[in-house]
Amino acid sequence: MFLLDESSRMVEKMVRGWCEAKLAPRLPALEAGTEMPWALMRELATTFGVGALAEAAAKKRIAKLRAGEGGDREGGTFGGDPMMMAVFVKELSRVSPGFAMGWGVSVGLAGGAIVGKGTPEQIERWGVPLVTTKQIGSWCLTEPGAGSDAFGSMTTTATPTDGGGYRLRGTKTFITNGPGADVFVVYARIDRGEPREEQGLATFILDRGMPGLTTGTPFKKMGMRDSPTCEVFLDDVEVGAERLLGGAERGRAGRADTKDSLGTERSGIPAMAWGILERCYDQSVAYVRERRQFGKPIGAFQAVQLKIADLYLKLKTVENCVYRLAWMQKAKVSDPAYVNATKALCSQLAVDGALTAIQLHGGYGYMEEYHLEKLARDSKLLELGAGTTDINLMSAARSLIGAIESGG
Ligand SMILES: Cc1cc2nc3c(=O)[nH]c(=O)nc-3n(C[C@H](O)[C@H](O)[C@H](O)COP(=O)(O)OP(=O)(O)OC[C@H]3O[C@@H](n4cnc5c(N)ncnc54)[C@H](O)[C@@H]3O)c2cc1C
Repeated sequence: MFLLDESSRMVEKMVRGWCEAKLAPRLPALEAGTEMPWALMRELATTFGVGALAEAAAKKRIAKLRAGEGGDREGGTFGGDPMMMAVFVKELSRVSPGFAMGWGVSVGLAGGAIVGKGTPEQIERWGVPLVTTKQIGSWCLTEPGAGSDAFGSMTTTATPTDGGGYRLRGTKTFITNGPGADVFVVYARIDRGEPREEQGLATFILDRGMPGLTTGTPFKKMGMRDSPTCEVFLDDVEVGAERLLGGAERGRAGRADTKDSLGTERSGIPAMAWGILERCYDQSVAYVRERRQFGKPIGAFQAVQLKIADLYLKLKTVENCVYRLAWMQKAKVSDPAYVNATKALCSQLAVDGALTAIQLHGGYGYMEEYHLEKLARDSKLLELGAGTTDINLMSAARSLIGAIESGG
C-alpha cells in the first residue's frame, strides 16, 4: 500500500518531464500575470489523456443516471486511480502549487460538483467540457462578508421569478480562475421572503457573458500568483431552472452538496503539500551535500542534519496521509474527521517545510532562482483555502465529539 505501483511511477516520470519542459519556463510570465494558465491547462489535459479518462467517467455517470441508478461516481471526477491522480497533483505542485490549484478547482471542484450532483443534461452541457478542460470552471462560495461562516453569513440570493427561474444578486470573492472562467458554479440562498435561517441553499451553473455577471480585475497576492483570483459580481442575473444544479431545490439539504465539494477540495490539498515537501526535501539534500562552508559540505554539520531529518519526517508524514486518503476514496470509506485533520496537518507541514528548506539554502534560498520562495509563498494558501486550519480542526473535532450544545 505504501509503494507506488508501476503505472503511478510512469505518471510521475511523464508529468515531471512535462512540468520541466512546459510549465517551468512559463512560470515568470504566469506569476507576473502577463500570461494566463488556461492554454497550458488544456494542453495538460490532452497530453496525458486525463480529459478522456474524466469524460469516460462522466459519461458512465450519465448512463447510470438515465438508467435510474444514482449511485456514487466511480474513481472521482478524474475517473482514474486516486493514488495516480495524487501523484499527478504532486508533480504539478513540485513546480507550481498555483497551477495545480487552478486546474484542480476547474476540474475537481467546478467540474466535480456538476458531474457529482448534476442532471444528465447538466453533466453533458457543463460537466464534460469542464472535466476535459475544454472549458475553465470556477467555484463560487466565499463572499466579502462570508468566509469561514460561508453559509450563515451568505448574502447572495436567488429570488424565484414568475417564469419558474431565479434572479441572482450578490458578490463572491477570492474566486480562483474567476478572471478567465467560462463556467461559474455559484452558491446562493433561495429567498422567498422567509426568515434567513429557514432559507435553503442552492447551486447554480452560470456562463460568462450572461447579462449581469461580471468579474473583477485579478487580485495581487502573496503567493499562488500563477492562479488568477478575482471577485464575481451578480447583478440581477436571470437564470432558468435548467441552471439549478440537480434540477430541483433541496432546501437546507443544499448545504450538504457544498460540504461534499469542500470535502473533495480538502482531500486534494495533502497531494499538493506532498509535492511541495518532496521538492523541498530533494533539493535540500542535494544542496547540503554540495554547499561547502568551514571547509566541509554543510551536510556534515549536525544542526543541518537535524533539519534534513525533520524535512524527511514531514515529507513521509504527508505521503502517508495521501496514501490513506487515496485508499479511503478507493474503498469508499467516509471519514470527515480524517479528511479535515490531515488537510490541516499537511498544510502546516508544507509551510514549515518550505521555510526549513529556505533556511538550509541560506541566502540562496531567498532567491527566486532556487524556486523555494515560490513554494513557501504558495504553501501558505493551503492553510487558508478550503477552510482555514482552525476551521478544519474544529470540523474534525465536531465529527469526533459530536454536536455539543454551547450552553450560551
Ligand atoms: C488565493 C485564494 C483562493 C481562493 N479560492 C476560492 C475559490 O475558488 N472559491 C471560494 O469560494 N473561495 C475561495 N477562497 C476563499 C477561502 O476559502 C477563504 O479565504 C477561507 O474560507 C477563509 O475565509 P476568510 O478569508 O473570509 O477568513 P475569515 O473567515 O474572516 O477568518 C479570519 C480568521 O478568523 C478565524 N476564524 C473565523 N471563524 C472562527 C471560529 N469560529 N473559530 C475560530 N477561528 C475562527 C479564521 O481561522 C481566520 O484565522 C480563496 C482564498 C484565497 C486566499
